[in-house]
Amino acid sequence: MSKKIQAIRGMNDLLPKDSDLWMFVERTIADLFSSYGYKNIRTPVVESTDTFCRAIGQATDIVEKEMYSWTESNGDSLSLRPEGTAGCVRMMIEHNLPREGIQKVFYQGAMFRHERPQKGRYRQFHQVGLEVFGASDAKIDAELMQITHSLWQKLGLENVTLEINTLGSSEARASYRQILVDYFSVNKDQLDEDSLRRLESNPLRILDSKNESMQGLINNAPKLMDHLDEESAIHFEQFKAYLTCLGIDFVINTRLVRGLDYYNRTVFEWTTTDLGAQGTICAGGRYDSLVEKMGGKPTTAVGLAIGLERLILLLAEQKVEIATKQLAIYVVVLGDDAQLKSMQITGELHNQLPNITIYNDITLGSFKSQFKKADKANADFALILGEEELNNNQVSIKPLKSQDKQQSLSLAEAIEYFKDYK
Ligand code: ATP
Ligand code: MG
Repeated sequence: MSKKIQAIRGMNDLLPKDSDLWMFVERTIADLFSSYGYKNIRTPVVESTDTFCRAIGQATDIVEKEMYSWTESNGDSLSLRPEGTAGCVRMMIEHNLPREGIQKVFYQGAMFRHERPQKGRYRQFHQVGLEVFGASDAKIDAELMQITHSLWQKLGLENVTLEINTLGSSEARASYRQILVDYFSVNKDQLDEDSLRRLESNPLRILDSKNESMQGLINNAPKLMDHLDEESAIHFEQFKAYLTCLGIDFVINTRLVRGLDYYNRTVFEWTTTDLGAQGTICAGGRYDSLVEKMGGKPTTAVGLAIGLERLILLLAEQKVEIATKQLAIYVVVLGDDAQLKSMQITGELHNQLPNITIYNDITLGSFKSQFKKADKANADFALILGEEELNNNQVSIKPLKSQDKQQSLSLAEAIEYFKDYK
């Protein structure tokens, strides 16, 4: 017997029962981002491995161990995208877009990381991201917070906290790095294996460690906040002032350094305590030097990414009711002539009532069994087309969720009725 086929571990199907919710969330996000003037972009799922290595940085979890990479027959190394910023920056440079002025864009799509699958952590997952190129004022950092805050409200989410920090300029970070290395070197005996490695490669990431036994050591570490350059300090003050004026609560988390190499100044995460260890639903920051580092003209940038699976899990966890349903009609049909007619009628209904779901019966069963199907489809109305209706050039409408009476109408009257129905 051949082996049963199944999906790859950590890569999920979207089942029909869940797709209304996904589509609602995706639509809400796209409408909101568009309403702030952001344009949708799409970049390939596959890029040169080098594009990701240069953008994300060698000493990161993603590049060190999470990328799906392979070698083409001509020797080129390619990878599935683990995140969206690298491809977006590559696109900006390749098409010279920042030259045309400030670029405000958003993307959505599947990302791939070879990590251990668990709740809220998958090998194929979906992100929606916002990126702005060519704007350096803290006002735009704050706009990103305004948009995401508004999204949580639109979705009806609660218990999400904004954590912010600043990483200063790259010079400030370089000198802080040395201060940190000195501090941890003195306390080397308290570092775990990962942190010992990071002490060489990326010491700021030690601050990120979840290792219980190192928490005291980390909490007492010197803070970047105390070693900021003046411009970054001002930028951070402005960012906070904007948040305050927007009424967006935040906490300053000096240990927030983000996994990726490319950030400077503002970094932030929207977190929740309702999802266990995978509590970050959105993360991002400013990366002013990345465009230049990847071969473009110096262009400031700031962006974020939302993890859609975690957002959907949170909606379920908080039992948020979503108004995904539109009026649904099940067309109940009996008789051969009525079958033909039902196709014309559903066509007409679709033309006249674009925001209604219409199920034209395809079971060809008895009236009774078709009504059962209508209930199962959770339809609001049955639109009945039998011999009598056909002879009278009418349709019958039967409400399925109220005690209201069935009535027979011309098709035009029925359409008016559905148009007015609240
Ligand atoms: P984490 O610390 O949880 O590994 P990260 O810092 O690697 O997150 P980012 O690269 O900043 O995550 O990605 C932005 C968002 O994408 C995360 O906040 C999260 O919501 C989501 N995300 C990241 N990795 C995964 C994954 N493997 N599965 C599902 N969602 C993910
Ligand atoms: Mg990660």
